[in-house]
Amino acid sequence: MRTLVIIIVVALIVIIAKRLLQKPPTPARRGQKKNEHMVQCASCGIYIPEQEALQRAGHYYCSQKHLDEDLHK
Ligand SMILES: [Zn+2]
Repeated sequence: MRTLVIIIVVALIVIIAKRLLQKPPTPARRGQKKNEHMVQCASCGIYIPEQEALQRAGHYYCSQKHLDEDLHK
């Protein structure tokens, strides 16, 4: 009888463990903004969200300063 109880307990642990592994926690994905495309500053190489980047002639810049600096190269 003891053996049967142990088998049931082990089986339950395995089932619970499998469920936990199959369903990774979702809150981690919520932190990322959807469809946020990262672009690289043509001057310093830093990555910034496309919406925040300054664009000129197909190049992206993290700040007005870097955009101006690249103009004078
Ligand atoms: Zn920059």
